Amino acid sequence: MKITKLTTYRLPPRWMFLKIETDEGVTGWGEPVIEGRARSVEAAVHELSEYLIGKDPARINDLWQVLYRAGFYRGGPILMSAIAGIDQALWDIKGKVLDAPVYELLGGLVRDRIKAYSWVGGDRPADVIANIRTLQEIGFDTFKLNGCEEMGIIDSSAKIDAAVAVVAEIRSAFGNTIEFGLDFHGRVAAPMAKVLIHELEPFRPLFIEEPVLAEQAEYYPRLAAQTHIPIAAGERMFSRFDFKRVLEGGGISILQPDLSHAGGISECFRIAAMAEAYDVALAPHCPLGPLALASCLAVDFVSHNAVFQEQSMGIHYNKGAELFDYVANKDDFRIEDGWFYPNKRPGLGVEVDEELVIERSKTAPDWRNPVWRLADGSVAEW
Ligand SMILES: [Mg+2]
Repeated sequence: MKITKLTTYRLPPRWMFLKIETDEGVTGWGEPVIEGRARSVEAAVHELSEYLIGKDPARINDLWQVLYRAGFYRGGPILMSAIAGIDQALWDIKGKVLDAPVYELLGGLVRDRIKAYSWVGGDRPADVIANIRTLQEIGFDTFKLNGCEEMGIIDSSAKIDAAVAVVAEIRSAFGNTIEFGLDFHGRVAAPMAKVLIHELEPFRPLFIEEPVLAEQAEYYPRLAAQTHIPIAAGERMFSRFDFKRVLEGGGISILQPDLSHAGGISECFRIAAMAEAYDVALAPHCPLGPLALASCLAVDFVSHNAVFQEQSMGIHYNKGAELFDYVANKDDFRIEDGWFYPNKRPGLGVEVDEELVIERSKTAPDWRNPVWRLADGSVAEW
């Protein structure tokens, strides 16, 4: 079997799908994208395609190494997201050829189901409470919300109070019938992260995500030393070579590689095993589409340290399309009482509604995150 063609489709809300075709008619799908830079990743995918056309898709390990090493320069969000989507599509092909789900090819199930968590939107406490109630009704009991809005390197007690007020209201409304993680989103610099984590400690969030930016990872062990709240990070790390530094540095309790950013299923399977060796939990980052999610689940179901899975249903970014809009076999991904179950279909188990993908790709928006500024006009982290 030989790879014959790579086709990319940028899609609403902010995704990109990749279709890899072969001379024997088997096709695989992946999701190579970095949010807000889809065209850059698209260019990288097509530039890398010269290493793939005419090659045997079964040799995923060799192709991955060629894509990673052959260009001399490697790593980073654009190249590793391109490799990620290609790798996902190659696993999809392998599963279809061997008539087995990807998790079977990785050694088989280590668990029967995995907890899904849901994003909660809303800026005001009352909105957050109402949104959690709605999600509770459809079975979720684990959530994530942003921990604060923009924050200066040194900022006011009013900003801290505003952030704490939301969390205090959630705990008083729900007690410990729910769990929730707080995503600082890299918005907070080390000086205020120390203060904010200290103030949030009494409300026992499930984790604090990206308390500081990944490039300030030396603060993770220092922040972990001052708090009992587990620290999570990883969505802005792109290979095992990035993750080894933070695992060695310590401080992270939950590792969050993104299956569409960190080299795909092959690389994240290895990263999961590295985390296990450090007694660090795995919770793959996934605010993206169905192929990214299916790839996450393949790794969750074979990794002993996986604890819960993010998914983008109802997420505030999903403007113009929802998680399963492009999936023909939606029922295979049903969430029951907040749990995902293994999908028994071969490969990634996603039957892509290709007609809809082609149609919607004609009007794909160029999604961008907002550029925030602080009161003095200087740029803030979003
Ligand atoms: Mg995050």
